[in-house]
Amino acid sequence: MDPVLEPRKTIGLVAHDNKKADLVEWCHYNREMLVVHHLVATGTTGTLLEQELELPVRKLQSGPLGGDQQLGALIAQGDIDFLVFFWDPLEAQPHDPDVKALIRLAVVWNIPVACNRATADFLISSPLMTAGYVRATPDFDAYLNRFAPK
Ligand code: PGA
Repeated sequence: MDPVLEPRKTIGLVAHDNKKADLVEWCHYNREMLVVHHLVATGTTGTLLEQELELPVRKLQSGPLGGDQQLGALIAQGDIDFLVFFWDPLEAQPHDPDVKALIRLAVVWNIPVACNRATADFLISSPLMTAGYVRATPDFDAYLNRFAPK
């Protein structure tokens, strides 16, 4: 069955170092919208957001230490509804494979994902942010059963 996203959503937040100021500013601007949701972030991003927004944020490991993979795991188990991931397109990261994996899992599980401010602005102002929403998940049965006895 497709998951129903409740009006109160769990939002994943990550920003690479050169994008942290951007994310903090975006969160400040949208604080009133964000306050009704659960926030989960990679370590340093989460610490900054907690300081700046004075909102509770569940903090995972720092991204390069496994935080991106933790977020990916939460997506795979259905515990993240929405991802804001301001990754840096101009600087290679030590954990580039994890960055790619996180974006990939967001696509695999059909999670809304904003990788820049304009997209984040459009998503957060969507009426679906504060409504229930049935998120269609792809049908993986054929893939999962590809070696099942006929
Ligand atoms: P950080 O991780 O929030 O701990 O800096 C972000 C990242 O680079 O994935």
